[in-house]
Amino acid sequence: MIAYCGLNCSKCDAYLATQENDEVKREETAKKWSKMYRAEIKADQINCNGCKSNGVKFFHCNNCDIRACCLEKGVGNCAACEDYICKTLSEFITLAPEAGRALAQLRI
Ligand code: SF4
Ligand code: SF4
Repeated sequence: MIAYCGLNCSKCDAYLATQENDEVKREETAKKWSKMYRAEIKADQINCNGCKSNGVKFFHCNNCDIRACCLEKGVGNCAACEDYICKTLSEFITLAPEAGRALAQLRI
C-alpha cells in the first residue's frame, strides 16, 4: 500500500484507526497529528482507507499536490516519474524521509 508520495498507508495511524474503527486511536492520532502538523485536526477527521482507495481519505492526502501530480502524469508513484526528484517531492521527503527511502527502493 505505497502511496503516490512513498508513504506506506498500511502502517499509517489514520488507516489503522479506520480499519479497526477504533475511536481511541482516532483521538490519539488527531492529538499527535495536530501537534506534529501544527494544525487543529479532530478525531472525526481521522478516516482513511488509503491514498489509492476509492473510499474515504484523510482530507490532507485527498488534496495532496503530489497525489494530484501523479494522477495527472499517470504514474503509480513518484518513483516512476521522469521528473523524480522534483522540488515538490524534495520538500516533502525532507519532512518524511521514510517516504523518500521507499521511493528510492522502488527506483532500484
Ligand atoms: S492516504 Fe490515508 S492512509 Fe495513506 S498516508 Fe494519507 S492518511 Fe495515511
Ligand atoms: S513531478 Fe514530482 S510530484 Fe509530480 S510525479 Fe514527478 S516526482 Fe512526483
